[in-house]
Amino acid sequence: MSAPASSTPNANTELVQRSLASVWHPCTQMKHHEQFPLVPIASASGVWLTDAEGKRYLDAVSSWWVNLFGHCNPRINAAIKDQLDSLEHAMLAGFTHAPAVELAERLSRLTGLGHVFFASDGASAVEIALKMSFHYWRNLGLNGKTRFVSLQSSYHGETLGALSVTDVAVFRDAYAPLLNNNVLVPSPTFDGKGDGDYPCCLECADAAADVLQTLLEERHDEIAAFIVEPLVQGAAGMRMYHPQYLRRARELCTEFNVHLIADEIMTGFGRTGTMFAWEQVSTSADMRPDFMCLSKGITGGYLPLSCVLTTDTVYRAFYDDHTARGFLHSHSYTGSALACRAALATLDIFESDNVIVANRAKTRRFSALMTPLRQHPRVSNYRQLGVIWAFDVSTSLADFAKRIFAAGLARGVLLRPIGNTIYFMPPYVTDDGEFLLLVRQTLAAIDEVLA
Ligand SMILES: *Cc1c(COP(=O)(O)O)cnc(C)c1O
Repeated sequence: MSAPASSTPNANTELVQRSLASVWHPCTQMKHHEQFPLVPIASASGVWLTDAEGKRYLDAVSSWWVNLFGHCNPRINAAIKDQLDSLEHAMLAGFTHAPAVELAERLSRLTGLGHVFFASDGASAVEIALKMSFHYWRNLGLNGKTRFVSLQSSYHGETLGALSVTDVAVFRDAYAPLLNNNVLVPSPTFDGKGDGDYPCCLECADAAADVLQTLLEERHDEIAAFIVEPLVQGAAGMRMYHPQYLRRARELCTEFNVHLIADEIMTGFGRTGTMFAWEQVSTSADMRPDFMCLSKGITGGYLPLSCVLTTDTVYRAFYDDHTARGFLHSHSYTGSALACRAALATLDIFESDNVIVANRAKTRRFSALMTPLRQHPRVSNYRQLGVIWAFDVSTSLADFAKRIFAAGLARGVLLRPIGNTIYFMPPYVTDDGEFLLLVRQTLAAIDEVLA
């Protein structure tokens, strides 16, 4: 903040050149930056990112789905600054500290899952859940349970284990020879056929659950766990589905001795309208997932932190005199005190501002503002769940997503379509005026790109 921000007209260009020369950017074919802009951000506040020349962009994707309460939120900033002067980080093997303990206790109370294993990123949480599940069965003498089941179009992260349960071709295809042999089952999302209703097609849920049932009946001996993104397949294009699928999946997993892993890395912390998406499936104790993965919004979008929550049953199967029956996994920054404090400050905001309830009224108002987009002649499959809005645009432009990104930037909004799907996943602090601006600028961007 205190660095002298250069405001010369070419401040942006200079930083971009240096970045392209030295930073290998994520999820990017670097050559595309010959044509499409790389945006240097100098500062941020609330829903706005500001570049070196002072141009502002409304962060409609919450900086890759992580931000909840705005950039440079004064309450989270204060908590991190306070923590910084007492303890920044200490290893969590053999040691503990108040922020990790308090966060584990609060997350346990919120989810009903009493044991919390910390890591740093979403993908590392997925790795941990997969390894824990396999190791649990092994500790019970069931060594044949070596496979995992996931949904078609699922996304669980991009390290090799997480990628092996991910079904998004652009991320997966190049590495397919390196990936474990897992099993895909049909997704319960509406496939556009029949007379289903996009967000919540009950028939689609039941048909997909029937396939899962047949698979588990036949192959449960070799299956450790079923991993799923509850209610929304995010990276597949915000594909939403009926909670009935998850009720049946939970019952089937219990019946056939297979773990259910709820990957709430994107859906957690209020995104789907409840604190965790699983609350819309069931709130009863015997319907809980065996594992829940959390990350992204956990620190309000500030610092890398993730965790896996699990049950007493799983925990007890590792508790033993033999070291090798324990869960020996580790990451250097496990339970970072600074990140845990950011997470505690985030939970404090949820409580003191009654965020889940406040978001309900807000999302109703925002959904009404979506009407002109919904009614646009080229828009179809409009859907909304909690603080996520998405729709598909019919176009044959192969680079539609990149063009909308560029057209959005020119109009001061950060949009990052997934294929032909445009979605809004703004921070919860977005106000009505900002959302209206987002809708108007998106309409203009669509009309410009399709013209
Ligand atoms: C983003 C995401 C991940 C991976 O998290 P990273 O922090 O990017 O590794 C895993 N699962 C889901 C559902 C996600 O949305």
